[in-house]
Amino acid sequence: MLLLIDLDGTLINTVHPTWRPYKDGQDGFLIEPYLNQLPFFLGAKKFLTSRKSKGDKIVVISDSHFRYVNPICDMLDVERISLADKPNTKKLKEFLDGHPDYKQEVDNGDCFVIGDTRLDIELGRQIGAMTIWFLPYQITEEIKDERDGIGEEMLSKKYGPTYDVKTFNEMERIIDAPLSYLYSIEATFADSVSYRAVKLNFNRYKDGSYACIRCLARQEQGACDKYARADKYYIMSNPQRTQEFIRTLAEGISNYINQPALVAEGWDYFTYLTDKSSTTPPNKMMDIFDLVETSVPKVQLLKWADNVHGSLREQNLYNDRQTFLQNYLSVDCPTETSIDMFGQEQQTTLSISGKNIIVLDDQLTTAATAWHVIRKLKEKGARNVLFVAMFQMTLSVNNGMICPICGKPMLIKIRRTDGHRFYSCTPPEYRGDGCGFIQDIPEQN
Ligand SMILES: [Zn+2]
Repeated sequence: MLLLIDLDGTLINTVHPTWRPYKDGQDGFLIEPYLNQLPFFLGAKKFLTSRKSKGDKIVVISDSHFRYVNPICDMLDVERISLADKPNTKKLKEFLDGHPDYKQEVDNGDCFVIGDTRLDIELGRQIGAMTIWFLPYQITEEIKDERDGIGEEMLSKKYGPTYDVKTFNEMERIIDAPLSYLYSIEATFADSVSYRAVKLNFNRYKDGSYACIRCLARQEQGACDKYARADKYYIMSNPQRTQEFIRTLAEGISNYINQPALVAEGWDYFTYLTDKSSTTPPNKMMDIFDLVETSVPKVQLLKWADNVHGSLREQNLYNDRQTFLQNYLSVDCPTETSIDMFGQEQQTTLSISGKNIIVLDDQLTTAATAWHVIRKLKEKGARNVLFVAMFQMTLSVNNGMICPICGKPMLIKIRRTDGHRFYSCTPPEYRGDGCGFIQDIPEQN
């Protein structure tokens, strides 16, 4: 395994602005006198020693100056790329060209890029490596730094790292068995089992109740590691999707919601965002929902108005989206008819007051729908709400591919009918300025 690991904020706690002149290699700010007092994060040195003993190749990749990076990496006895200019891949690619055995690891997919900022994730995605977003420190106002990408927690998550990790012990387990720690739907498509999720939001209310948003697979845009599954997102929306495919999706959801720690929270209802009458394929969501295995009672609590037309995706502005949701998506608890002790018919509407509810949706883009649903359920008295989206749309990343015909950058596109990927020098009829050249990307599993 090849580990490309960031230095500042990942191995050593040098995110505070006082370290900046050292990191920038300014005259009079030599790091040598401080080598023995560097603030390594807990477990960092042990991690490096352990990975070396397991035969991994380690390269520190840092935007800091070589006057600072070199003495530290000499001390750690690891290779290094300084002034890396992340997420620009130029310097990394030059390094790999000089190390064919390392390049082989990247090409084989046996490579991790590890770091604390979105720059590390962007860099990793561009070379198709697995990415570990590692945040071993507390983000405070004082350390936020746009240039270095420090403190951009939500942005980092939106770039869709393969793993989101808090300790070096956890990182060790992941590198030893990457498939076992994928997000749960990604794992089922990789013939593995996992119950991890992308943890996007957690909101605690005054009464102690909470709402949170989780996603079970990444729907990447542009370059990414092979475990992200935008291809599967498109297959889900294709009327030709197979029963086998739906079962695999449902299995990933079941694995997530049946994990002991989540079951222990005590859920009363499992519901889903129903299909609009205009959705294709019809029952796109219902078929999946029905196959999820859970002991939590399944009920239909959410309803799109019959007259809904268009989709949320066509509403660009935040306020338009809110209005669209407000007009068309509501909580509609089912009504039951029973016979009372006097033989009279009684209508009772299911109450969700004080109940803990899991909601399933297909895709998370802006989270507008998620927060709308959470708010509506809370208004009807729901207690805890867990909003689970199957796919998280990530921010897009360039892939560095250049069209061999016209020299313009090519984009990764996905054929909607079967999820097949290809590079496209997008021509004007598809709103690009390229020549129309297309290059197939071989199928991955
Ligand atoms: Zn072209």
